Amino acid sequence: MPTQSGDPPEPPDLASERLRAMSARVGELERENARLRRGIFEPSLPHVVSAPANLQPLFDQAELRMRELFSRIEIDPARALIGIDDERYVLVRASAFSIDLLDTLVQLYADRGEREALAIARGFLFDIAHTIGLHDARRIHDKLGGGDAVEKLTGGPIHFAYTGWSFVSIKEESELVPDENFCLIYEHPYSFEAASFLHEGRTSQWPVCIMGAGYSSGWCEASFGVELTALEVHCRACGDESCTFVMAPPEKVALHARRHFGVDRERYAQKGCDVPTYFERKRAEEEVRRSLVQLKEAQDELVRKERLATVGLLVSGVAHEVNTPLGVAVTASSVIREELHALRAKFESNALNKRDLRKFIERAGAAEELVNANLARAAEQITKFKRVSLDHVSEEQRAVALDVYVAELIESLAPIIGKGPLAVQLVSRGELQRVTHPGAIAQILTNFLTNSALHAKREDGRAITVQIALHGAADQVLLTYQDDGRGMDASTQKRAFEPFFTTSRGSGGTGLGLHIVHSLVCDVLRGRIELSSKPGEGVLYRVTFPAPRNAQPLNSGA
Ligand SMILES: [Zn+2]
Repeated sequence: MPTQSGDPPEPPDLASERLRAMSARVGELERENARLRRGIFEPSLPHVVSAPANLQPLFDQAELRMRELFSRIEIDPARALIGIDDERYVLVRASAFSIDLLDTLVQLYADRGEREALAIARGFLFDIAHTIGLHDARRIHDKLGGGDAVEKLTGGPIHFAYTGWSFVSIKEESELVPDENFCLIYEHPYSFEAASFLHEGRTSQWPVCIMGAGYSSGWCEASFGVELTALEVHCRACGDESCTFVMAPPEKVALHARRHFGVDRERYAQKGCDVPTYFERKRAEEEVRRSLVQLKEAQDELVRKERLATVGLLVSGVAHEVNTPLGVAVTASSVIREELHALRAKFESNALNKRDLRKFIERAGAAEELVNANLARAAEQITKFKRVSLDHVSEEQRAVALDVYVAELIESLAPIIGKGPLAVQLVSRGELQRVTHPGAIAQILTNFLTNSALHAKREDGRAITVQIALHGAADQVLLTYQDDGRGMDASTQKRAFEPFFTTSRGSGGTGLGLHIVHSLVCDVLRGRIELSSKPGEGVLYRVTFPAPRNAQPLNSGA
């Protein structure tokens, strides 16, 4: 090798390293060059939007900015990347996004019937595309600078064309104003949805470009700040020459469709192709949910009132129970007063003898005993009432002797029992000192007895026999309630625990009694209830609930 002057020669491995790097860079530049030569976004016509003459210059400006933006596209499968600046895009097969998605949704909702299934599926597609249109518009407005509403609109059809959705041709009749008079009449000659249908050799009875309608109305909604929807009135998938749309505020679309195209909205709606409204279903569902919450609140309020009404009933019951002993006490005390008066008169006139005095002591003593005994009875009734009525309004858990408690409850419900009339028997077996919710049990039995008294009346007018049985075993209590009244047929039985179900609305039934029973058994006692009945053979309720035994001995009912 000849010797070179100047710089000393590079070591051979460093030179070949540089060579490798340079040829790699050349390869990169060649690929880049090839990509640029292909001209990824090179329109074959001068315009990608057709607009009325007065608007065309605005669209031309927007087109220049959009072309500049899309010229920065970077496509690199090695990084799964399709991107412009820092924004990523995805390439989706058009028929997956139109036909396949629509068909799948229609099948998914097939149980709702053909018309409803199609309406739901179209609703989904519209909402998805409308959402994409809204957000694309906001992002591109930020990127390209906003301007007024019409300027904001101009980017839409161009972005639409660049992303493969459709070419847009805006018609002269359009009224581009940012209020309820907004009306856009436009065509999509190359809609990806219609094209997908035609490509698969399918035709449709109804317009299929629902996503095109959704996207464009979403974009315009973001540009004009007016709620907008779009209705496709002609579609290539139906054999029409072009896909034609009317866009306007939801309440005005049908009007414009009739005015400009003589299209009857009713005819569309019958096929499941009503004017699409953004998230209409969601809104409708939200409304249903809200009214259900209100209904539940009203129901809870009624249940609370019903329980307080029972307390009122107990008040009249206790008044009845307390009346008799108080009456006796009053009579006995007036006897004492009369005897005392007679005694005083004899004493004043010096006519009092030993026999009179003995007689007074005997009579006054007997009367005083009566007063005492009857006042004690009244006091006892009041105490019981206090206990039961407190239990009625509270759901607290406490230790209770269930047999004694239920016996006292039956006593306090004399007004209901008398109304039936009911002949009530109480039977108890097993260990009944339990820790449980006596208020719930009192309310359950009150409602059973009220039902027997009000609804079970027999045709022969004979008193209805009621048997209440309590059976304590292990950590469970079984409460059965049986009457021999009119009973229920199968359909009444099936609905007996539903709120507001009653067979006697006219005669004062609220239809809440058994519903309250059911919720007390399940939610408060954490037990279960079974009902069996036949017409003419009375009813039998079996309530089973967990209630641990109470080790501490109790005073009666307390
Ligand atoms: Zn179409």
